[in-house]
Amino acid sequence: MAKINPHYSKLGSGYLFPEIARRTRSFLSEHPDATVMRLGIGDTTEAIPGPILEGIREATDKLGSPRTYSGYGDSEGQMPLREALSNHYHGFGVDVPAGDIWISDGAKSDSANIQSIFATDNVVAVQDPAYPVYVDSQVMSGRTGPAVDGCYEGLVYMPCTEDNGFFPELPDRKVDLIYICSPNNPTGAVATHEQLKMFVDYAIENRAIILFDSAYAAFIQDDTLPRSIYAIEGARTCAIEISSFSKYAGFTGVRLGWTIVPEELVAEGTSPGEVKALWTRRQNTFFNGASNVVQGGGLAALSDEGLAACRMLTTYYMENAAIIQEGLDRVGITTFGGKNAPYVWMKNPNGLDSWTFFDKLLGECHVVGTPGAGFGPSGEGYFRLSAFGHRDHVKTAVASITSNLKLG
Ligand SMILES: *Cc1c(COP(=O)(O)O)cnc(C)c1O
Repeated sequence: MAKINPHYSKLGSGYLFPEIARRTRSFLSEHPDATVMRLGIGDTTEAIPGPILEGIREATDKLGSPRTYSGYGDSEGQMPLREALSNHYHGFGVDVPAGDIWISDGAKSDSANIQSIFATDNVVAVQDPAYPVYVDSQVMSGRTGPAVDGCYEGLVYMPCTEDNGFFPELPDRKVDLIYICSPNNPTGAVATHEQLKMFVDYAIENRAIILFDSAYAAFIQDDTLPRSIYAIEGARTCAIEISSFSKYAGFTGVRLGWTIVPEELVAEGTSPGEVKALWTRRQNTFFNGASNVVQGGGLAALSDEGLAACRMLTTYYMENAAIIQEGLDRVGITTFGGKNAPYVWMKNPNGLDSWTFFDKLLGECHVVGTPGAGFGPSGEGYFRLSAFGHRDHVKTAVASITSNLKLG
């Protein structure tokens, strides 16, 4: 008889966003006339800029003639796009050769898939709170025991708290793989050079590998903050970077990302180039390359015109973040993030737990946000508001919070 993968049964039952959707539906069925404002899921809302759509159109048109038609491409991605990404990194002073870049259908799949090239007995450390994919992919692959009190046995949780500015201390024991996301979802915190260097030094000393998610790098406003792990000396020997066109070019539905596995990267018993070769092997087997139409859009997004248009998009979302933050400040709610990331992380008033505050915000203000506890135990007592929304929705939501939230 066929047997299912037993590790799936360890996963927490309610994935965060379905539970949010369920509570929102139930509120709306009791209050059919209410308009709910969603500052919950981190999904982009504004249109893809014209020059980028033009790139998608051109790539589409090429398929319409046998002279320019293309079928399967390299699973690593099209060389012009890999070169454009390499130039883009060069533009902010970071050296990433095109040959170390793999184009993918997004950072979510890569951040979950990358674990398959590493042994099951690696000890994995995650920031707490964290993007749920890092944790759940480890559970499914059998790298953890069951969850006890909200923590999977065998995973090392690195708390990100108000006291440490939402960037973790080094793990208190030896770990092998370390997920770091900066700018961070959900806390909006951005690691400094010094903070990343501390982890790179740890990784070199302990022969660990950092899995660095830079999906929000384009939202960094402060030029002194690192946009890539490779801005840190030594990172090419110990870090993989995973990133995406989703949030900066509005590609959440279009689907395009990239992963960098440097030639110099080494794991136990490997020489330079071997880890990189494993990722190629994995991609060649499980993946047949990102859509050629979409790669045309990616190339356009990296042109001068495309980058300028994307900067207008990120600026728009960051203005939303400022509006949210100012509104919350005005009613005395303590907020974090929001300055170099499109998320405002707030401390719940009156010490309310995450789901109680979710229900209160929905009930009193008709605003949907994301309970911090959904991202890990250290998120309890906090709440995430997303700046990805139409300006008028954001303004209405903030006005509703400032006038209707009962802070007694
Ligand atoms: C949105 C997001 C991504 C992007 O995922 P895609 O699959 O590229 O859309 C990656 N990492 C984090 C932390 C995110 O929030």
